[in-house]
Amino acid sequence: MQQILPASDLDRVLATFSLPRRAAVRINPLRGEPPETIRRLLASGIELTPIDWSSHAFSIPEAQRETVSHLPAAEQGQVYLQSLSSQLAAVLLAPQPGDQVLDLAAAPGGKAAHLAALMQNDGLLSCVEPIKDRFYRLQANLKRQGVTIARFYRTDGRTVGKKVGPRFDRVLLDAPCSGEARFTTTEPASFETWSPRKIKETSWKQIGLIASAFESLKPGGRLLYATCSFAPEENEQVVASLLDRFPDSAELLPIDIPQLQPQESLAEPSATMVPIRPGLTTWEEEIFPADLRHTVRILPNEFYDGFFLALIKRR
Ligand code: SAM
Repeated sequence: MQQILPASDLDRVLATFSLPRRAAVRINPLRGEPPETIRRLLASGIELTPIDWSSHAFSIPEAQRETVSHLPAAEQGQVYLQSLSSQLAAVLLAPQPGDQVLDLAAAPGGKAAHLAALMQNDGLLSCVEPIKDRFYRLQANLKRQGVTIARFYRTDGRTVGKKVGPRFDRVLLDAPCSGEARFTTTEPASFETWSPRKIKETSWKQIGLIASAFESLKPGGRLLYATCSFAPEENEQVVASLLDRFPDSAELLPIDIPQLQPQESLAEPSATMVPIRPGLTTWEEEIFPADLRHTVRILPNEFYDGFFLALIKRR
């Protein structure tokens, strides 16, 4: 963390590993009218804090996470517990109704269901997940949330690009990762399998997945690469490998939604500002293409989980 963060952010970010974080919900317009779902949540005493960049995203107190998960609205798929950082992924990929969309690492399906909601259940959403029990959880979750446009494939995502060729308008790769941004000092299980070697193995897998994701994109299509890890080996290095492999067709796009303003001081987080830093252009001995500055690292605070995001266009 010392190597990747400006000194001004370090202590505050390190402190977040020991602090409770607020939870968040996404209102699902595929099940019920959102104003009615919001009314029901408020009537159940849930304290909803609106978020500027999505009318369906709300921050809630951590203490109400459990309560929400047992509400009928959650059982009926009208509301879904999903971190704000996770909700940004589908918003940034911005699929349109009628699009052909691929989610290449889909379980348990929070982001896939969000993609389907943005597509208004119109088009095609192909979901890939190789692990059996996660695959069935994904199917059940999308069914509960009223998704009718999904097809499910139990396979290794690395094989998909070669198999299907350039046919998708949008691809989400929310890659399997070391989960560094989920580490919590009070839960040693969250970090006990971490090792530099594991990061290298994970990075290798991610490099295969991002190439496959890119090969399945139509010209003009967009890929969003995301992880919940801080490690440059799982983030900038993976994206740089793609630019290196497809120098003429892969183009990094600036991540650009109006509310995504880098904050000068992250000391006073607000629900509406996303605390981001541009991606690194050097790491240890390596120099990455200058466009890597278009990628973003969301730094954790009370509202946001740590995350890495890169938006790539196929020329
Ligand atoms: N996008 C999901 C969501 O929002 O609910 C979370 C995805 S999770 C970060 C990464 C997923 O990738 C896991 O479910 C994992 O089982 C799956 N995975 C692992 N290896 C894979 C591979 N070779 N191809 C595709 N998916 C893989």
